[in-house]
Amino acid sequence: MSDAIERPAGGAPPWGYASAPESTDVVRLEDRYGLFIGGEFVEPKSGRWFPTISPSTEETLADVAEADATDVARAVDAARDATPAWQALAPAERAKYVFRIARQLQERAREFAVLETMNGGKPIKESRDVDVPLAAAHFFYYAGWADKLEYAFPGRGTPGPVGVAGQIIPWNFPLLMAAWKLAPALAAGNTAVLKPAETTPLTALLLAQVMQEAEIPHGVVNIVTGAGETGAALVDADVDKIAFTGSTEVGKAIQRSTAGSGKRLTLELGGKAANVVFEDAPLDQAVEGVINGIFFNQGHVCCAGSRLLVQEPIFDVLLDKLKDRLQTLRVGDPLDKNTDVGAINSKAQLTKIAELVESGVEEGAEIYQPECDLPERGFWFRPTLFTGVSQSHRIAREEIFGPVLSILTFRTVDEAVEKANNTPYGLSAGIWTEKGSRILHMASRLRAGVVWANTFNRFDPTSPFGGYKESGFGREGGLHGLEPYLTFDGGPR
Ligand code: NDP
Repeated sequence: MSDAIERPAGGAPPWGYASAPESTDVVRLEDRYGLFIGGEFVEPKSGRWFPTISPSTEETLADVAEADATDVARAVDAARDATPAWQALAPAERAKYVFRIARQLQERAREFAVLETMNGGKPIKESRDVDVPLAAAHFFYYAGWADKLEYAFPGRGTPGPVGVAGQIIPWNFPLLMAAWKLAPALAAGNTAVLKPAETTPLTALLLAQVMQEAEIPHGVVNIVTGAGETGAALVDADVDKIAFTGSTEVGKAIQRSTAGSGKRLTLELGGKAANVVFEDAPLDQAVEGVINGIFFNQGHVCCAGSRLLVQEPIFDVLLDKLKDRLQTLRVGDPLDKNTDVGAINSKAQLTKIAELVESGVEEGAEIYQPECDLPERGFWFRPTLFTGVSQSHRIAREEIFGPVLSILTFRTVDEAVEKANNTPYGLSAGIWTEKGSRILHMASRLRAGVVWANTFNRFDPTSPFGGYKESGFGREGGLHGLEPYLTFDGGPR
């Protein structure tokens, strides 16, 4: 029998990935989007609009309203006006509305996933399999608590809502962050004004349409689009609570401006997580965890495993495996279902990543990037590894928020703990080892809000998430995420 498959010179297998583009037909974009205030889309009093683009093609997708302080005040007034009726609703009725949002998200999951990928640049397989299902799961989870609040915190007195929540979210998980913020706020009987990030407003605005379809009472959810100034106006507005996710720098500014105001505050800020691999770890599994830990969502993840700590005896073998795996990552069109690493969210973020990578090379670390073609248009960065990294290098200390992994080594457990905790941040960490006792020992010594063992970047609505030190305070998810939206016995807000 003859060999029917023609093999190219060198014997490489003759197959590759055919393109598998997701259709954008399911998405209907408006030419422009107003502000969502009092249950309807309204023109901004500011008279200003800005384009929102696709970071993978640089094409303008739509124009979006830019809210100024007057617009923000209008949204807060709408939320305030809606508060008494929303709070007076029977809790089971409130739950009904929140369940409706969850179900609508599931029904329109494909539309949300495609739009998220178009506007943010993340691979469609992530929007489809992570962002949208998790967003729906958050609404489902908190809807379940709405009529059980008095049992949720035994011995704390009668729970009641805080009032109007101002919520500011970043561009890395636009829909999911909106769900993290809105679901507990609504379930606890609060009203909300949400500000999406400047570069990724579109899924929040689609969520506003879902609010309309779910017949959420007017003014209970308001969405104001704009840049940092809009966020600052929301912080200064007459709200009872601010919930912020974003950079440590802006978090600190918000903490300064809310100090002494009586406004409640929760901050979910940056991270520089250590992913610690011991010599007894299941190596192939660890390689997948390390790759997922840093290249998921192009590394635009506050809890990304951006510092890999490897025990010395396995350094060479792990590095070879990581380099091999990097060669197989497919970088490019985020709407292609085979893509692993999509577009960098914005030109500004690309510049920041490039600058930090440059500093790594200048400070003497050794860079490794796989060969891969990058599209001509759009914002792209090759998956990158650094070896020869020392604790003092900027790439070991600063949050790069891109697909860049800094690899360091350690010899003993104590050294691993010391190095992992040697950061101003404390959001997450990973441990890879076969020994359960070592996992428990490490987890109790790592100063990180979330510690994953033999896995990484796993999220669940029932599980609290948040940081230590400069990674912020307050928790989101689980009962811990409900508490900041509640007062007890009408006590201080
Ligand atoms: P920001 O902290 O500036 O953005 C987060 C949100 O806050 C956005 O909605 C932003 O609006 C808004 N905002 C900006 N300035 C203010 C202000 N003064 N008052 C109130 N709200 C404000 O993050 P960037 O987008 O600038 O990213 C910078 C760096 O921050 C990244 O490179 C990354 O290292 C880190 N980052 C960390 C995140 C995390 O989850 N830990 C998430 C995002 C970024 P707008 O986007 O319109 O400017």
